[in-house]
Amino acid sequence: MDLSLPGTVRAIREKYGLQPSKGLGQNFITDRSVLERIVEGAGIGGEDMVIEIGPGIGVLTVELAEKAAFVTAVEIDTRLLPVLEETLAEYDNIHVLNGDILKTDLGKIIEESRQEGRFTGKVHIVGNLPYYITTPIIMKLLEDQVPTDSITVMMQKEVADRISSGPGSRIYGAISVAVQYYCSVTKITDVPKEAFVPRPKVESTVLRLEPLKEKQIEVRDRKMFLRCVKAGFAQRRKTLLNSLASAAGIDKDTVRKTLEAAGIDPGRRAETLTVEEFGKIADGFTDGQDNGNR
Ligand code: SAM
Repeated sequence: MDLSLPGTVRAIREKYGLQPSKGLGQNFITDRSVLERIVEGAGIGGEDMVIEIGPGIGVLTVELAEKAAFVTAVEIDTRLLPVLEETLAEYDNIHVLNGDILKTDLGKIIEESRQEGRFTGKVHIVGNLPYYITTPIIMKLLEDQVPTDSITVMMQKEVADRISSGPGSRIYGAISVAVQYYCSVTKITDVPKEAFVPRPKVESTVLRLEPLKEKQIEVRDRKMFLRCVKAGFAQRRKTLLNSLASAAGIDKDTVRKTLEAAGIDPGRRAETLTVEEFGKIADGFTDGQDNGNR
């Protein structure tokens, strides 16, 4: 059965009485060339493990299982479990886990799979993401520091553009800084609405995020870093002095002194700052805390 044919999605819908859930972001890929570009972009080797986020009816899952030693696919919708049982029946290297990706301990799954000898190579996270939680998923993968070699995911084009943008750009934001702190970002491909059934309202893009072995700056306290980044962009029209003081709840005098010590003009706005500059500010606040100044 070719799962990428629009007719297959229709047949599965009829057989299982399954209405794709808008609330769960269910838009299934029906374009073989898109699948090929995702799998190629992920760079999966024969000894590797893949964690797939949201397998849906399994169209991408089977392509991943063809390349990898082992695939764990995390799907929240219990209605899809009997479908996946049928569509993935031929594969003995796929494990479907019913659960919420935001509540799944991926580090533990990876560790257990390695210990059980299911794979010996690298780890890749791949998925056509449920768009309603794109940012929380990416932030979770980064903040949990899931031990992965790559993250190749499809998302709304608008979010992908934001993640890829740099200082000075109108769309540069907290997610851009957070992702670029941890990862290099490569665009794999744009994907039109027509490549899905049902069609989403937005255009899509596949990005490959590769955790940096050597970061541009190693901050002393990652939580403080993210707090500064989120506070800085919370009201992007405000100066750093005001946005950090109001959104991060740090008194103005401390903010001014910390910014000046980091060599950053308190009158600048967050959207002009590089990842390194945010790192310097965060380290300044961390130093202040360590010295008991706040
Ligand atoms: N991989 C399939 C494809 O490309 O055709 C389906 C992708 S669809 C855009 C997103 C999938 O993620 C759906 O199957 C949906 O049920 C699942 N999903 C939604 N929220 C989820 C969550 N919190 N945890 C795990 N899976 C989720």
